[in-house]
Amino acid sequence: MAAPDVIVIGAGVAGLYQLYRLRALGLRVQVFEAGSDVGGTWYWNRYPGARFDSESWSYGYSFSEELLQEWEWPEHFAAQPDTLRYLNFVADKFDLRRHIRFGCRVSAATFDDASSRWTVTLESGEQATAPLLVTALGPLSAYTLPEIPGRDDFRGQAFHTARWPREGVSLAGKRVGIIGTGATAIQVIQTIASEVGSLTVFQRTPNWAAPLHNRRITPEEQRRIKASYAEIFERCRQTATCFIHQTDPRRALEVSAEEREAFWEKLYAEPGFGIWVGNFADVLTDRRANALASDFAARKIRQRVKDPAVAEKLIPRDHGFGTRRLPLESGYYEAYNRDNVRLVDIRETPIERITESGLRTTAETFEFDVLIYATGFDGVTGPYDRIDIRGPGGRRLKDDWADGVPRTYLGMLIDGFPNLLMVLGPHTARGNIPRNIEEIVDWLTGLVAFMTRNGLHRVETRPEEVDRWVAEVEQAVEGLLFAEVNSWQTGINRNVEGRQVRRVLGYYGGAVEYRRRTDAVAAQGYDALRFS
Ligand code: NAP
Repeated sequence: MAAPDVIVIGAGVAGLYQLYRLRALGLRVQVFEAGSDVGGTWYWNRYPGARFDSESWSYGYSFSEELLQEWEWPEHFAAQPDTLRYLNFVADKFDLRRHIRFGCRVSAATFDDASSRWTVTLESGEQATAPLLVTALGPLSAYTLPEIPGRDDFRGQAFHTARWPREGVSLAGKRVGIIGTGATAIQVIQTIASEVGSLTVFQRTPNWAAPLHNRRITPEEQRRIKASYAEIFERCRQTATCFIHQTDPRRALEVSAEEREAFWEKLYAEPGFGIWVGNFADVLTDRRANALASDFAARKIRQRVKDPAVAEKLIPRDHGFGTRRLPLESGYYEAYNRDNVRLVDIRETPIERITESGLRTTAETFEFDVLIYATGFDGVTGPYDRIDIRGPGGRRLKDDWADGVPRTYLGMLIDGFPNLLMVLGPHTARGNIPRNIEEIVDWLTGLVAFMTRNGLHRVETRPEEVDRWVAEVEQAVEGLLFAEVNSWQTGINRNVEGRQVRRVLGYYGGAVEYRRRTDAVAAQGYDALRFS
């Protein structure tokens, strides 16, 4: 291939669509992908029970009516193999693979100020150069292992959930230990509990969770879904999170206790994220409303878990309902009613070390055949930290982002790093991810088209505009209870040095407002940016 006009890093949901759009502009696009195939998150996360919490029919790409009519989601909330199959289908249908080089992990990207070009270095040492660099790295691709002594000593099989082997792992009858109780662990635990010999769950912090209520899509539903995609996507455009669920305008504190309880019972019985992002307007902002919602969710845990002592351990005390990304579950709590499942609270009895045959807490020694690390990710900025990205004069992005709020413009460009365009970097709206991705990619494609039309070779931010945007980002988070809680969304990862201080890593003014802001910049001919 002749030298590319644009290099894209990543061939997941974001990279594939960005490739499709840039190619349609007539540009030569080279995508580098670390995995051996397309899929990103859905390529790597093959752990048992992996599935998304978005309604399937609101998750797929919206850009091609033909694709929408051809593809059939089997379930309302599709499992990982189906989503991966979908992304392969898209890659084949639009003949995207020939622009992608697989097995190519990018280790560095350096900007040459004189020529205004990025040079990308692969782990193999090979290099490629292009005027524009698009990062489609995914906010949750930098997985992290716990810093527990002896991790390499274990002689059994050990896996991080984000590196689950392609060929699968036989767990039948085995003694399995799992560390972590986030959205990933919850899916693993509920899925493998009935298959394994024994399952020991090591929990540091319990998370709130609510039922997913997944089921198969009937032929009649399939027909209706295909006939109403326009309305589905329009509905997603009107919500703050791009899910189909709209926040209820009522306030929990203003309605009667009976009305409140009835509404929560209804939400608890319904599929998807309604109970999180379609709840009363004050649940995620008012401490008293949130305490009532937490009390409701705690009562559900007590009803579902037979052993009262275990139920109490599963109830979060350090954060309120929905203030961390809410995991949706299918029989998670009931897994603890099984004789072969045990919950170990490692705040009471911390893990001292991993051993050859299992692990040791301050109270007990455990033996395992398989150890599962469901220990999460260095979210949002982690994937950027893992590439040595250097702007003009050797300025390192990692240093710029070492602490404090990343200096972005609209979450798509970075102060001091010309011609670098981010899909789903820090400070974009995030929710139903493919919806966010499509809007960001469309915006970036518009910018690239503008540059191409006008013969512009270099785009960079204006510091005063960055100041304004960062102030807006910080303002948007004020009053949101989630901002006071430790999680990957607030930039905390206790397994990563320097990631102990909360940061604002998203735009939380809602997708509608984010779209209004970004559309306005495009409508004004990108005056807020500097070109040459
Ligand atoms: P996570 O929510 O960050 O959970 C990581 C878990 O590992 C936490 O329970 C954490 O405990 C524990 N942990 C980490 N280090 C530990 C250590 N050194 N010792 C003991 N425990 C440790 O990560 P995740 O579950 O992979 O989920 C991340 C995100 O991925 C989700 O929030 C969601 O956005 C996405 N996801 C989505 C789906 C879906 O769509 N259905 C499914 C899975 C994941 P602490 O809380 O105490 O740190």
